[in-house]
Amino acid sequence: MTKHTIDLHAHTLASDGGDTPVELVRAAASAGIQVLAVTDHDTVDGVRPAMDAAVCEGVEVLPGCEITGEVCGRVVHLLAYGDGLLADGAIDRVVAVRRDRQRRNLRIGERLEALTGVGYADALELAGGSALSRAHFARALVRRGVVEEVAEAFDRFLSNGRPAYVPAPSLPAGEVVRLVHALGGVVVLAHPGRLAEQEREHVVEGAIEAGVDGLEVWHSQHDADGRRGFMAIAERHGLLVTGGSDYHGRHKPGVRLGGGADGNVLVPAVVVDDLKERLQAAVCR
Ligand code: AMP
Ligand code: MN
Ligand code: MN
Ligand code: MN
Repeated sequence: MTKHTIDLHAHTLASDGGDTPVELVRAAASAGIQVLAVTDHDTVDGVRPAMDAAVCEGVEVLPGCEITGEVCGRVVHLLAYGDGLLADGAIDRVVAVRRDRQRRNLRIGERLEALTGVGYADALELAGGSALSRAHFARALVRRGVVEEVAEAFDRFLSNGRPAYVPAPSLPAGEVVRLVHALGGVVVLAHPGRLAEQEREHVVEGAIEAGVDGLEVWHSQHDADGRRGFMAIAERHGLLVTGGSDYHGRHKPGVRLGGGADGNVLVPAVVVDDLKERLQAAVCR
């Protein structure tokens, strides 16, 4: 039995995860994780509570945020790491994206309500104070019996091209990089293996040109070939490599902290050393 000790990609109720920050840290401790990054979508609200809980659980929590960005007109997820993310007002630009997300959510709600009777208020109630995303609209549709499961909600209403879809607001990746670097942080392109295959290479190159510091090589949805491929790209460009499960608690039941038995998220210890070295260099930049 291999011991998993590093997980640099996990969500809480602050965005679309299923665990409170305290529950996440406890789950990490039980899974044998020693270093955990809390990386909610476009918010750092879950980080401090997780750090406070971590002290007593023997887990080291690193501040992070999965920022919605854009490369070549495609939405990408950019993992930002660094203590600077927590500074007062530091993620104002990201918060601006969140305000735009609010407008988008209202529009999704209007469309969905016209189609199904389930609208913004239903998703908001279900989100219970978390940053609202399509995942909450999907769960509201399940709860009201309009669809059987979340996947059906996306297939029929919420995915790109479906009738309640509204594009997500996002910042160009270069702008995210500039913003995060100014805070002494680093930026890693999240789960490149989830990009559509026919445009993956182009988007990864675009992200590298935009100045990302690293690639997420280990991820629940990357297989061994994917990991090898992204590792080779990272080596070619001298990029940092990171990894994490993308844990969402009960909302992604198949995804476990530290990954599954096949080693898809078996992140080597040196990754944390490299990340900390980059962060040190970024602070002194
Ligand atoms: P948003 O950021 O509002 O676009 O919503 C993204 C959320 O919806 C994330 O939690 C995704 O995991 C989830 N999501 C996107 N597409 C699907 C899908 N086809 N099935 C299930 N969840 C999805
Ligand atoms: Mn998510
Ligand atoms: Mn993501
Ligand atoms: Mn994620």
